[in-house]
Amino acid sequence: MRVRLPEERPAEPPTGFKIAHPMLSQDGGRAGFTGVSLGGALPYGVLDEAHCVYGLRHRAPHRRCDCGFHCVHDRTAAEAMLCTAEHRSAVLLDVTVLGAYIRFELGFRYARQRVRTATVGPCACGAVAVALADAGWGRPGWRGLAASCAGCVRRRTAVSLATFARLGGEGLRVRAGGGAVEPAGAGLPEGPGVSELVAEAALLQARLDWFQSQLARLGERGSGKG
Ligand SMILES: [Zn+2]
Ligand SMILES: [Zn+2]
Repeated sequence: MRVRLPEERPAEPPTGFKIAHPMLSQDGGRAGFTGVSLGGALPYGVLDEAHCVYGLRHRAPHRRCDCGFHCVHDRTAAEAMLCTAEHRSAVLLDVTVLGAYIRFELGFRYARQRVRTATVGPCACGAVAVALADAGWGRPGWRGLAASCAGCVRRRTAVSLATFARLGGEGLRVRAGGGAVEPAGAGLPEGPGVSELVAEAALLQARLDWFQSQLARLGERGSGKG
């Protein structure tokens, strides 16, 4: 006899929280995320389906496997994971649990996921993030990104928070601390919105400032040598 767990049929899909690293595709055209532990090898999109991380030919989540997307019920529990040194550059995701799910004490393991909001922490220097910049690691075809303030972006590959939201698509919202960046082009099917252009302008200005300071330093060095 097979014992089945009681099935739930919620009217609204459940929601939860998790942490992940923001990722940018190699060609810069797509934004996604990758998990911090199990499943970290497989970047996923804003709206995506889980695959078995062990490559087994069953649907995730399988009862006798630990594959599938994972999230916790409690925002504070997810935020607590951001305190560890290796997770400092991860972002907090607010997600909708779609498809089949397995409920456990702290959260869910499930088949499909929509990332609703990504909350980006401060730059490593402590200032508010304006961009997500190349973090110096990645997966095949994907660069890992980390929060950066305008001053620390320098010449690294970077996208503003608003651009990351647009590249992620599916109505993704990306916030820095308390301030929200609306999904770019909300109501407009194509092209960057005003908030995205403003964010890009701030980023370009920061890069220009950095470039000019480098030029000035080279100038000083040049004149010092005579
Ligand atoms: Zn599996
Ligand atoms: Zn900084």
